[in-house]
Amino acid sequence: MKCQVCGSSCLKKAAEITRQREERFSPCPSCRSTVLNKQSPPSYRSRAPCSACEKRPLDEVVADCWTIMAEEGDLAPTAPVMAAGIPLIHPGVALTAPPHHGEASLVFLSRPVTQNAADRIVANVPEVKGVVHDTGKVPGIAETDPEPEYHVNTLLAGCDVRANIFETEEAPVTVFMQQSCAHIEYPRGFDPKLVATATEVIQHEPSVFVDAACGVGTLGIVAAQYDIPRVIMNDAWGYAAYWTAVNLNINRDTLGLEGVEMHIAYAEVQESPVRKEPRKVADAFGDGKHYEVWWGDLHQLADVLPKSVDLTVIDLFGKEDRALMADTLHRWKRETGGEVFIP
Ligand SMILES: [Zn+2]
Ligand SMILES: [Zn+2]
Repeated sequence: MKCQVCGSSCLKKAAEITRQREERFSPCPSCRSTVLNKQSPPSYRSRAPCSACEKRPLDEVVADCWTIMAEEGDLAPTAPVMAAGIPLIHPGVALTAPPHHGEASLVFLSRPVTQNAADRIVANVPEVKGVVHDTGKVPGIAETDPEPEYHVNTLLAGCDVRANIFETEEAPVTVFMQQSCAHIEYPRGFDPKLVATATEVIQHEPSVFVDAACGVGTLGIVAAQYDIPRVIMNDAWGYAAYWTAVNLNINRDTLGLEGVEMHIAYAEVQESPVRKEPRKVADAFGDGKHYEVWWGDLHQLADVLPKSVDLTVIDLFGKEDRALMADTLHRWKRETGGEVFIP
């Protein structure tokens, strides 16, 4: 599996990436620990990685980013460490101690960073696999009517594809995404949405399950771990739908899928990332199973769904808008039917 963004080997099968998750960010007995005051400029000069394990504490990596940005004039010499940006660990796991980083193990998200600094960070700080300019807006669809409006952040250097690993009662779920085109989500060790999804699936034993606003596919994949014959995942945001298909492939062994047939190219998503009319992104088949990924408005999905749907999860961004949620649920029940839940 080639990475859609850099053409290199960022994507690894779930089993491979989860096997290393325990020790990946742990220090070895020879590691030093460095914890900086995030409210001040770094009181630190760049140091070589641990000679035994070649890792460095996270704060040293961020301090290097800060130093390059200060040299390039992106930050004032008095700026605190935390002003440099947000390190997003790759793969994201629930941590119990400050992480120690090896090569290409974080994506750096920053508001003040400029192109020159980003190039230098990726060239000189080996732990950083990509630098993203954060515009301050959440990537995704902002508005659908009358014309779709959306935001993406900008990848300035390297590759911003990273994964999160979520622990479940069954197998761990690994989901990849392109960070500049996805909202920030991070495993916390206890993730109530995952528990709610598993609970509903166990209770209703659906034959047909729909994840109507699937994001990069986490909840649909959690549900699919319970041997559901038909799982349909959909999102109007092309970057979500595309990575959902990739993530079915990444997790195919634990889901009992033989393979995933892709029907669209990443370039089509990049060209025009929002769709209303549903378009099929992928089919996946396994022993008695048929999973599908669609890219479109969830209110137009009824046209392409099987006649009867048993259970649907709707995990809309902006759940605090109660009227919108109530309207969405009501319309879904009328147009599609079956049990519906908000995780
Ligand atoms: Zn890549
Ligand atoms: Zn070490």
